[in-house]
Amino acid sequence: MPDLTLSDRVSSLKPSVTVGFTNRAKALRASGEDVLIFAAGEPDFDTPDAIKDAAIAALKAGDTKYKPILGDMPTRDAIAAKLRNENNIPGVTGEHVAIGAGGKHVLFNVMHALFDPPAPGAPPQELLLPTPAWVSYAPIATLAGGAVREIPATVDNDFKITPEQLKDAITPNARVLVLNSPSNPCGTMYSEAELRALAAVVADAAASIAPNLVIITDEIYEKIVFGGIPHFSIGSVPEVAERTYTLNGLSKAYAMTGWRIGYGAMPGDFGLALTKAIQKLQGQMTTCITSFNYAAIREALTNPSVPDDIERMRTAFASRAQLIEKRLAEIPGIRCPKPTGAFYVFPDVSGLYGKTSAGGATIGSASDLAEALLTEAKVAFVPGEDFGGCGPNHVRISFACSEETINEGMDRFAGFVAGLG
Ligand code: PMP
Ligand code: GLU
Repeated sequence: MPDLTLSDRVSSLKPSVTVGFTNRAKALRASGEDVLIFAAGEPDFDTPDAIKDAAIAALKAGDTKYKPILGDMPTRDAIAAKLRNENNIPGVTGEHVAIGAGGKHVLFNVMHALFDPPAPGAPPQELLLPTPAWVSYAPIATLAGGAVREIPATVDNDFKITPEQLKDAITPNARVLVLNSPSNPCGTMYSEAELRALAAVVADAAASIAPNLVIITDEIYEKIVFGGIPHFSIGSVPEVAERTYTLNGLSKAYAMTGWRIGYGAMPGDFGLALTKAIQKLQGQMTTCITSFNYAAIREALTNPSVPDDIERMRTAFASRAQLIEKRLAEIPGIRCPKPTGAFYVFPDVSGLYGKTSAGGATIGSASDLAEALLTEAKVAFVPGEDFGGCGPNHVRISFACSEETINEGMDRFAGFVAGLG
């Protein structure tokens, strides 16, 4: 091999365990193994026909050329209207909206537009990250030059941080607070009152020690709620509206993971400056998203039949959540808060640590458990370590699969646990 090296920045980047584990399980299944996959963070439904038809019509009409970097204005306006009317975010216009290739891409852009690597001798800018958290926030912020300050939540508090914890975590170096409700991987949600209390802490800190603090609120699971807690957008709280970047996308609500459509917005003058910075970055990166996808976005947001499709999927997720909660509660050694949103549960499995599986594997960690389960029971859960905080005591189970699969998977998991000695 020639004497060539890779950049340190990318060499030290942590690969995504959710993407990696899901692809591994899918490859095993493709090779003929009877693997039940609870790893995938994607709905098992197909995209609603009206949305597909809109993309096909745009494609056939010759909508096949480059578009403006952040999207055409009618589409950006449609997203702004959605954010004003559904999420009550005041003052968002199409000019404040950025459309990128998935929520992950928009997150990457916004983090890179906000973080700088530390100047020599200066402290790093911090990402305040309530944990457990989705595996991509910390690596993307670190790549952009930030340092992660975890704010650990616990299973006993439904994985939610308190206003006191947030207050204690904010220093003059605080740059970004990430919130994600409903949460991946926790499957739990903050109430409106809880989010208002966190917003008050941010507003106070911004007026004193942390004037440069921005909230990124990842609301990609907003439509998948079933626990009686209505979704609430923290960007609607006037005191923080103009420092809150609302991130969303079509992947989850509309079953469109493969289309790669995400968007984000922040109102106000700084929101406009941030959006222009994202435009500059994306203009040197991907230019725009696939041209005929903009018609699909408008269709998803405005076709009056689409809410029925979303409701059909939401209802299915609601009954799956009940089923998996019941099945897990019957397995000794497992602790799991009631799921209220998204399509994940994140049970505490540390009660199984120290035991040995029927196949001879010692279970000392979430990774040991996930490996042994995959090998011996052909069940794919994502190990919790990379979600941070109490994650090492947990596994993530996605219930974006049929009730039949859930029952079969829980039978296998229960059998595996019963076989531990
Ligand atoms: N945020 C969260 C919490 C997620 O689980 C995902 C799923 N990958 C994303 C953002 C990004 O999704 P996408 O890039 O498909 O829009
Ligand atoms: N968000 C999904 C998950 O957590 C998809 C994979 C990813 O982008 O992380 O599994």
